[in-house]
Amino acid sequence: MTKKIGCALGVGALIVALLLASLLSPRVEFMVGGALVNLGYRLQDQLIRFDFEHDETITPEQIWTELERHNELAAGVRGLFPRTTRHPVAAILACMDARIDTSELMGDTRRYYYVVRTAGSVLSPAEQEMLELAVLNGVKIILLTTHTDCAAEAAAADPEMREKFPALIALMDERERRVEEFMARPTIRDAIAAGKLQVKHARIDTRTDRLVVEPAHEDAH
Ligand SMILES: [Zn+2]
Repeated sequence: MTKKIGCALGVGALIVALLLASLLSPRVEFMVGGALVNLGYRLQDQLIRFDFEHDETITPEQIWTELERHNELAAGVRGLFPRTTRHPVAAILACMDARIDTSELMGDTRRYYYVVRTAGSVLSPAEQEMLELAVLNGVKIILLTTHTDCAAEAAAADPEMREKFPALIALMDERERRVEEFMARPTIRDAIAAGKLQVKHARIDTRTDRLVVEPAHEDAH
């Protein structure tokens, strides 16, 4: 028996064992699902000899062709195995940084979260209104995040970059004020006062996905 077959059998046995364990409880089933998702991540993570090979000669056309092909494949799978529609109970604001994956962050693929992605995690008025709409639709937790090693934060701290990207920097400079503005919105303030909503603030450790919860801003308004 080759090493490769042995390894495949080992993984197969592990999967069967996990699936049997999943019969025990919803919690175990959830964790087994997470383990299998992570197995998928691990399988794809190291794969560099496929599509977006980071060769400097790759062209935009080639990248677009791969994107379309991926979507076709993914949509085909989704057509065969439709997902359950869920009512989101939480909303997350996160920076657009590619290293942050909200499913990984929460260890949950069930789509219980509205996700707002913006440059530098800035809550512009339109995003504030979207979150307010989410609260009116039943969201009870809003998690406002920033993250370590943020390119937008680094740009805001660099005089040369500040000159080069004035619109982004203007947004970053008002990030805190926008949060205070959001907290002072009557719908948000009233929902918090009625105990129907909590707004949490956290900094994501970009390397580990760990959330470091920061003190509440409820008194900011
Ligand atoms: Zn960022």
